[in-house]
Amino acid sequence: MKRTVVLTFPPTLVDEPVTYHLITDYDLEMNILRATVRPGEVGRLVLGLKGKKKDLDAAVEYLEKVGVSVDPVVQEMRFLRDKCHHCTACIPICPTGALDVDRETWQVGFDGTKCILCESCVPVCSYRAIAIEF
Ligand code: SF4
Ligand code: SF4
Repeated sequence: MKRTVVLTFPPTLVDEPVTYHLITDYDLEMNILRATVRPGEVGRLVLGLKGKKKDLDAAVEYLEKVGVSVDPVVQEMRFLRDKCHHCTACIPICPTGALDVDRETWQVGFDGTKCILCESCVPVCSYRAIAIEF
């Protein structure tokens, strides 16, 4: 199964190889979707995790035990259809095909089930037709 989570590290743990343990000790596949990690500051990672449910549960237990907060992603990508000019600038940027263009109508559409919240498309859109909401 897959889970997307936000990990918040206290400054004391920012230099620790916590994510390394997720791979080696819990046999998880990990995709870092976003990272804000600076020495001496609270760190934040948005991770896509994939593995067996028991391993995911054990990994979350480990993280919380060592002091890392684990929260589900509560962001949502919003495609504001009224603002979209169907310029297609966002299409090659989107790594998952969540933003796609109908080759017959040349209308751009959005499939939220494919979106991994990487935010790559947001700065590309001059019309502010894509936004992250919390
Ligand atoms: S970049 Fe913005 S305006 Fe252009 S197609 Fe994508 S969402 Fe629409
Ligand atoms: S946030 Fe990433 S995955 Fe989602 S629509 Fe934008 S580019 Fe595609």
